[in-house]
Amino acid sequence: MELVAINGNKTFSQIMIGESLDNLRKYVVGRKLFIITDSNVERLYKNHFPLAPIYSFMAGEASKNLQTVMAIYRWLLKNDADRSSFIVGIGGGVVCDLAGFVASTFMRGIDFGFVATSLLAQVDASVGGKNGVDLDGFKNIIGTFNQPKFVICDISMLRTLPSSEFSSGMAEVVKHALIADKSKFELIEKNLGAIMSQDREMLEYLITRSVKIKASIVEADEHEKGLRRVLNLGHTWGHAVEKVSGISHGQAVSVGLAFSANLSLEKGLLSSPERDRLINLLKNLGLPTTTSANPKDVFDVILKDKKRENDSIYFVLMKGIGNVVVEKISFNEI
Ligand code: NAD
Repeated sequence: MELVAINGNKTFSQIMIGESLDNLRKYVVGRKLFIITDSNVERLYKNHFPLAPIYSFMAGEASKNLQTVMAIYRWLLKNDADRSSFIVGIGGGVVCDLAGFVASTFMRGIDFGFVATSLLAQVDASVGGKNGVDLDGFKNIIGTFNQPKFVICDISMLRTLPSSEFSSGMAEVVKHALIADKSKFELIEKNLGAIMSQDREMLEYLITRSVKIKASIVEADEHEKGLRRVLNLGHTWGHAVEKVSGISHGQAVSVGLAFSANLSLEKGLLSSPERDRLINLLKNLGLPTTTSANPKDVFDVILKDKKRENDSIYFVLMKGIGNVVVEKISFNEI
């Protein structure tokens, strides 16, 4: 098992890569435990859950809204949750976002942890303390900054993840390599077979590297005042594509990475062989690099992005592989 600590402004969070769901109870001692999960994860893993009340919602992004949040608040009240209770979200990024948001707001905040069960949740959604829900189609527009006490990344649970979801998680792994780790990018290029067959050692290494990269950025800028913006690489265009086309988050991030690579090429920051390497890698991982969505519709969504400032937006560009720059780009240029 690999351990990564995040020292937030007020909190300490421990990420355990390779720990098992079966050991969850060890980390919630003497507290009343409440479990939040989704319908798929409940069906597959309920037998491994510790004894506790369980709230399960219909799997999928469509559940990540304030209606589900309110239903969970009512369920907590009905089951006599109090400020000393402890919430654990067991699932992918949607479960982590919902559980983290509910725990951060119920009774002005109670302690929580995650068992991250999708690759995307293990390398991204469970790490960093952002917990948000969607409103009227706008992603993560309502949310909190608050760190979980712990995150268990149970690698064995990835075996039951649909292959398209596994690929989606790899989009975030590639993103972390593009931001800060050229050698990790090369390692992924050279070890596609081991990665796609879910070699445990390889996954433990890749997940740990991703978590470490994200953790170091989050520690330096917990509340996204500056540096943390680099984590939005591929996400400005990606979120908009996700909204317009309805493809999954990770697939949309892959399209967003390709868009960012092309823009970086236009601006002379990335060479065309580097751009081609990235496009090939994403394709080899089973990820899309283009979208059939109407660019005008995608652009209209970008106009409403949280990161907008008057007539421009902060955009993350690639400066070679393993290095990024954040530039304010005008809507005209996009
Ligand atoms: P998800 O939670 O919907 O999971 C994807 C699918 O996989 C779901 O159908 C789920 O039921 C299923 N699943 C999860 N674990 C499984 C397992 N072990 N076996 C079988 N099926 C399993 O989506 P996701 O891709 O994990 O996460 C995407 C969400 O995360 C988005 O809402 C995104 O906005 C959010 N996110 C948040 C942050 C953050 O910092 N808060 C960062 C990145 C992404």
